[in-house]
Order: sequence, then structure tokens, then C-alpha cells
Amino acid sequence: MHRLLHIFKFRLFRIVFIVLIITGGVLFYQYRQNSDDPTCRDCNLILISVDTLRPDHMGVYGYDKNTTPNIDKWAKNATVFTNMRTVVPATLPSFVALMTGKNSFETKIYNNYGIVINGKSIDGGKPIDSNIQTLGEILKINGYTTAAFLTNLALDPKLTNIGKGFSQFEFLKEDPYAEKLDKSLYTNFIRRSIPWLEQNKNKKFFLWVHLIGPHAPYSPPIDIACNFEPSSCSEISRRGMKSLEMERKSLESCQKNEIDQEKLNLFQAIYDGEIVLDDRLFGEISRKINSLGLHKKTIVIFYGDHGEGFDHNYYFIHSHVLYDSAIKIPLIATFPDGNRWTNDKLIDNTEIFPSLLEVLGLNNNSDQQNIFSKKTPINKPEAKYIISTNVNLSKYSIQDSNYKYIYSIKGKACLNNGKSDELYDLLKDPEELNNIMFQNPDEAKILKNQLFAYLQKYKLPEALDNNYNATEKGEQKIIIEKLKSMGY
Ligand SMILES: [Zn+2]
Repeated sequence: MHRLLHIFKFRLFRIVFIVLIITGGVLFYQYRQNSDDPTCRDCNLILISVDTLRPDHMGVYGYDKNTTPNIDKWAKNATVFTNMRTVVPATLPSFVALMTGKNSFETKIYNNYGIVINGKSIDGGKPIDSNIQTLGEILKINGYTTAAFLTNLALDPKLTNIGKGFSQFEFLKEDPYAEKLDKSLYTNFIRRSIPWLEQNKNKKFFLWVHLIGPHAPYSPPIDIACNFEPSSCSEISRRGMKSLEMERKSLESCQKNEIDQEKLNLFQAIYDGEIVLDDRLFGEISRKINSLGLHKKTIVIFYGDHGEGFDHNYYFIHSHVLYDSAIKIPLIATFPDGNRWTNDKLIDNTEIFPSLLEVLGLNNNSDQQNIFSKKTPINKPEAKYIISTNVNLSKYSIQDSNYKYIYSIKGKACLNNGKSDELYDLLKDPEELNNIMFQNPDEAKILKNQLFAYLQKYKLPEALDNNYNATEKGEQKIIIEKLKSMGY
């Protein structure tokens, strides 16, 4: 009897011991998966960016078509940002903000600089100043092997300086869509990043790969485009991609009349096909990251530079528009220790740079908000504005977590229903369909004053002086002082 009791006690002890070990393991795993404040000193950094990719056309952001299965699967263990904006909805200014942490008003880079004729940029952009340090430069100084594989003429390293700090900079200068139906030039170029990973897996590295798929012209393989809009499939097959692309190009502008919904669906289906192709390339790279075991010592950032206009009176363009269709961007990040959560805070793309440096242990300025941390910063005011402009400085927007105000310069910007002032309630009307400027003039006035006060120090917009009377200028002065005291 005594012996039986002894055996029972021993077994009970063993069971309790095992249960405790398992429970402890699970808790530790969960802790690591939900690290509040990720740090990853000496980790590798991989940035994979996709051009012109609207977050609302990705599964991870709720799209009902299966455009991004590889990204969605990878994002299950990621920090997903749902409220990101770019300071300018164009390629170069967006990447300059990402790579320098400075907005376009500071760098004076509002536009692309990819096409130069007779020594002049037809876009009106400029290269990054030599005295502005980029992420690539900082990481290289800190012992990183740096490499970039980029597409998009707007990122030509010789013209833009975006290649600063990259020891190896591979750039697909040719238009990858010259042969519209043959994507092999483009896909083979992107795939060159995979052997690079194999060759450099034992080094501390920063790799940037930029995919241009969803940027116009839209020309995915027909079978992929057919996947998403069965009703469009016969039209796509009948007319062929080249003819459709010519029609889309002819509609690409600020339109006086809306394009009918059926046509819009057709072109969105083709746009989605481009996303699928880039998602497959992403899948190839992410599988290689895992098979090489790099995910255990690498931060992977997925970034979209800007969106695309399928709404309002803008179609198939982005750089002139400040609706969320153009300025809202995807950002997703994975860390070796996991950091699986959704960050819904209003953030712009200048905030990625200091946050990454902090996670990598290369930024000691603790006053700045680390967007990858769940911890609330101690010295940061709750009220926050995101200010954006377009490539020809004809539109300016300011938004807080509830409202967005857009100011357009008459005679310079394409106006929506002839209005130069627009106010949207982003919570009730996320598609920005109902301009409530006249229903809520007080809110509009507050935002407009904040916007103009901020822009005044950059002497923008050009029409600033003509749009304010003496009383309003007095109000501005007070706000400028307030903003200065807040550190803006
Ligand atoms: Zn772009």
C-alpha cells in the first residue's frame, strides 16, 4: 500500500513537472511572439518593396480576391500597419522619406527624377543632397554588406543618389514592359536577389529589392488577369493585353466624367494580375529566407511606396492625388523574435527610418516614437497630423485620426467638382466620397490653419498669401508658435 502510494506520488510529481515545463515553454513562446519592444541588434535587414500597391488590394488588408497568398501567409507572424501614409504619392519622394526619415518639405524632393532630356528632369525632381545620410549609408558604416536590386526608372541611382550606401546596386534600366507580354526580363532580374542571399547568408547585410509590377502599364499574363474577374475574361482574351493597355492609357488622367464601373472593374482585374505576379516573386524570396534560416536573424520589411487612383475624378494615376487611394500604403514587418500585432496608429513613412535604427540598436534618441514598439512614448503628444503634398505642389492635405482636409490650388490642380477645399470624415467615410466642408466648417478651419501654419515655414503653397485675410493670418501666427513649442 505504502509502495503504491509512493509510486502514485512519484507519477503525480512527474506529471506536474512535465505540465509546468510545457506551460512555461508555451508562455515563453507567446512572450517571444508578442515582444512589446523588439530589439534586433546586428540583425540583417531585408526590404522588399512593391510599386503602386494599394493595401486594400491585398488579402492581409481585407481584399476579398486572392491576390497576395504568399504575402498573407508570411504576414501571419508580422506587425501589420493599417494606417500608414506617404508624404508624397510618388516613387522617389516616398523612398527618400523611407531612406532618410525626412519629409519632402525638408529634402525638397517632391517628384521623380527618372527621365532626363537635354540635361533637365522632365518630372522636376532632384537628387538627394550629399549631406543627407541615408539608411544604406548608416548601415554600411556599421559594418553591413549592402546591396539593392531595383526596378523603376524613378530610382535611377546615377540621377537620384538613392544608391548612396549600397556597395552593390543592380538597376534594371530597361523598361521591363517594352515587351509587354514577356515578363522574363523583369522576373529574372528580381530573382537575381536569391543567389545573392545564398552568397551573403553568413554576413551581416542589408538587402533592398524593389518590384514594379502593379505600376502602369498593366500587362500581366492573361491567365492571371482572368482569375479575378471572370466576367472580364472574355474581353481580356478577345482584345488582348496590348489593346486594353492602350485604352487604359487613354483614360489615364484627371477626368471630367466618371469611367463606368464595368470598365473600372476590368482594369482593376488586370492591375490585380500584376500584384499576383509580384506576390509570387515575394514568395520565392521569402521561402529562400526561411530555407537558409535567415528569418532567425533578419528583420524583413514589406513596403509599398504609394497607391493608385481608381476613384474620384482621377483614374490610373497616383502622383497628383491626395486621397487615401494614393497616399495610404502597406507596411508589414517581421522580426526574429516575432512581434505579431496590428498597429492602427496614424503614421507616415518618415517614421520608419528612426524606428528601424532603434530596433537595430543604432539610434539612441529615445524621444522618437518607435513604430515597431507597442509601448506608448512618454513625451509624445497624442494629437498628431500627417501632412502630404503632390508632385507639382498643387494640392496639400492634413489629416488626424478622424478627418482629412485637402487644399487644391485653383488653376494648377485638377479639382474635384470644382472645389478647392475638401473635408472628409475618415472614420464614417473612409472612401472620401462625401465632402463635408460646408457641414463642418469649424473642423475644416482648424485643419486648414494647422496645415497653412506648418507650410508657412516652407513658403508653401504659392497661393498662401492670397488665401488668408488679416484675421486668419493672426490666428496662424498663434498656431505657428504652438507648433514650434510642440517641436514641429
Ligand atoms: Zn512608385
